[in-house]
Amino acid sequence: MHASGHVMSGLLAGVGFAQLAGLDSGPGVLAAVTVAAGSTGITSPDIDLWLKGIVRHRGITHWLPTVILFGATTTILAANYAPELTWVAMAHWTGLFVHLFGDFLFGMAVVGADGPGIPSKGPNSGYVGLGLFRSGGGAEWIFTWLVLFPVLVAAFKAWSGLDWVPTLLLLGAGVFYCSAWSQKGRH
Ligand SMILES: [Zn+2]
Repeated sequence: MHASGHVMSGLLAGVGFAQLAGLDSGPGVLAAVTVAAGSTGITSPDIDLWLKGIVRHRGITHWLPTVILFGATTTILAANYAPELTWVAMAHWTGLFVHLFGDFLFGMAVVGADGPGIPSKGPNSGYVGLGLFRSGGGAEWIFTWLVLFPVLVAAFKAWSGLDWVPTLLLLGAGVFYCSAWSQKGRH
């Protein structure tokens, strides 16, 4: 999946998270950005791209038990030692799941893996995924910007009460910026 898809699906889930958690717009935006961070780049399961030679891409960091254990640990630690940050840990944890779901839908097979998507049987085996849009990046890019982005803008506008133009500019710039620093290509 492209970085922009991970950023946008993370932000979209984050707006939902902020609404469910009943957060005000300030902490709400922070929560949305935290979910997007959990879904994108070095703060997501794609940290394995920065650990080349140590772990395989879409291996153990993309394995459901790892994500469950990691998120439960950070959430329990936060709840015990910094309760005011518990929702931050939970927002990040949510982002990790969003990332796995994105790779499940769009993740093409990586070299050495036994299929597209994410591992299910073990950290490096039993790959499951739909591997949508294998024709390449174009179709996913169109889906990301023509379907996901408008939905995100509408959801964010409804939640924040901002006008269309500032919402569009804010989110567009944010997604573009995050996609640019996080990673290149399909992951
Ligand atoms: Zn990934």
